[in-house]
Amino acid sequence: MSFFVDQLERTLQEVERLEKENARLSADKERLEAKIKELEARGAPENLVDAGRFFFKQLDGGSLEDVPYCGVCKSPMKLHSCSDDPIEFRCAGEACSFALPYRDLVTAFQRYGVKGPAADGT
Ligand SMILES: [Zn+2]
Repeated sequence: MSFFVDQLERTLQEVERLEKENARLSADKERLEAKIKELEARGAPENLVDAGRFFFKQLDGGSLEDVPYCGVCKSPMKLHSCSDDPIEFRCAGEACSFALPYRDLVTAFQRYGVKGPAADGT
C-alpha cells in the first residue's frame, strides 16, 4: 500500500511543479506580447496617410513628404533604377518585395497635391 502512497505523493509534486512552470511561462508570454506590441508601435512611422497601395508621410506643416512608404510594412521606399523601364520604387524593408511603379507615384503626387521633384515629370 505504501507504494501507492509514494506514487501519489510524487504525482502531486509533479503536478505542483508543472503548475508553477505553467504560471511562469504564461507570465513570459504576456511580457513578450507586450514587448512585440511596443516594438510594432515604434516601428511604424507616425502620421502616415493612406494613398491607395502605399502611404505618404504627413509632415509637421501638414504637407505630405515626397517619399512613398511601403503599402505592406510601412518602411520608406527607395528609388530603384536599372536599365529596364519603368523605374520603380522598392521597399527598403527586409524580406519585403513591395514595389511601386514610378508613374503610380507621380499620379499620386498629382492626386494628393504633393510637391515633389517628380510632380512635373522631370
Ligand atoms: Zn515593405
